[in-house]
Amino acid sequence: MTTTILPGQTIGIIGGGQLGRMMALAAKEAGFKIAVLDPGMDSPTGQVADIQIIAPFDDQQALEELADVSDVITYEFENIDVEGLTKLAEIAYVPQGAELIRVTQNRIFEKQAILEAGVIVADYITASTFKELTEKRSELSFPFVVKTARGGYDGKGQQTVSSIDELHLAETLFENGECVAEAFVSFKKEISVIIQRNAHGETAILPIGENIHKCHILHETIVPARIDKKTMDLAKQAAEKIAAHLDMVGTLAVEMFVLETGGIIVNELAPRPHNSGHYSIEATNISQFHQHIRAVCGWPLRQPILWSQAVMVNVLGEHVAPLTTKIAQFPNWSIHLYGKDEAKQKRKMGHVTILTEDLEATLSEIDTSGIWSE
Ligand code: AMP
Repeated sequence: MTTTILPGQTIGIIGGGQLGRMMALAAKEAGFKIAVLDPGMDSPTGQVADIQIIAPFDDQQALEELADVSDVITYEFENIDVEGLTKLAEIAYVPQGAELIRVTQNRIFEKQAILEAGVIVADYITASTFKELTEKRSELSFPFVVKTARGGYDGKGQQTVSSIDELHLAETLFENGECVAEAFVSFKKEISVIIQRNAHGETAILPIGENIHKCHILHETIVPARIDKKTMDLAKQAAEKIAAHLDMVGTLAVEMFVLETGGIIVNELAPRPHNSGHYSIEATNISQFHQHIRAVCGWPLRQPILWSQAVMVNVLGEHVAPLTTKIAQFPNWSIHLYGKDEAKQKRKMGHVTILTEDLEATLSEIDTSGIWSE
């Protein structure tokens, strides 16, 4: 059964970070009310919400309180307790369910689901202990990347192993449980496909972005990705297959490697709006946040149109001071700061989006601004 949620009703969001904040801002434009559950006081989402419930994510009473005040509940991050979310779905309207979270919070389940959908991932093996990895490692050739099955992000919880002498570097990863070891992919580019789907099975795909990482953290997204049409079609088909197989509702970001041959390999999934889709706020007719709200509220989706080429650059803690002193010099830069109090090194504090007709000139303007210099 699907329900349509309308302006004036309340959308509950689990998680108070920047993704929840941008979802909330999009929803509030349309007259929805927002309730948020987050352990932190004055969280980025809490600052713009109508109701703040400040409690740990697994606090059953707080989840019940969220259910009481919300007409529909969504989430902005994947590390939610699956059991808690399943229980919540019994007392509240959670159109996304808990299955998508269960699959995407474990790399092993995720890879199995991608393969079942008929899409390629890098060759991999799984190991519960370092000893098991040592025994099985000849099934993969060097180099490979060992990743914890759960809890890794932004390059945390992973180790590249180039030779037998380096294998010991992966040992500590097993302190966090089971791991996967996957073939190192010598990719030409990294891209992400953000697919959004409502409970009627209708889908919409945002223009594909090309992602440039620094120290494993997304630095820049260039849209459209500089790949040929054949690769774009392959990437979109892969995202459609995965979304249909998972029967998901809401947003799924599919991170992919583009090979020299133009083929693609899926790296990982995120079951929520994604950093690489922030450009859509300015550069398309429907941002990933507006579309997410449409999807979870049971509205028909709008097919995205890209108004202009765009570059999104992340603002980490160390970039805030130089950016804020220089931003007034750049009338074409749209600045977003998430309201986080402490500008810690490497913490995602905001982003800048620039629409452009001359990509090279814009990339060079970003470089010469000095804001993102090492
Ligand atoms: P992940 O946490 O899986 O998204 O990995 C973070 C980044 O590490 C990716 O965006 C890639 O740049 C790199 N990476 C991860 N897995 C691989 C792989 N199998 N081969 C090559 N690079 C990888």
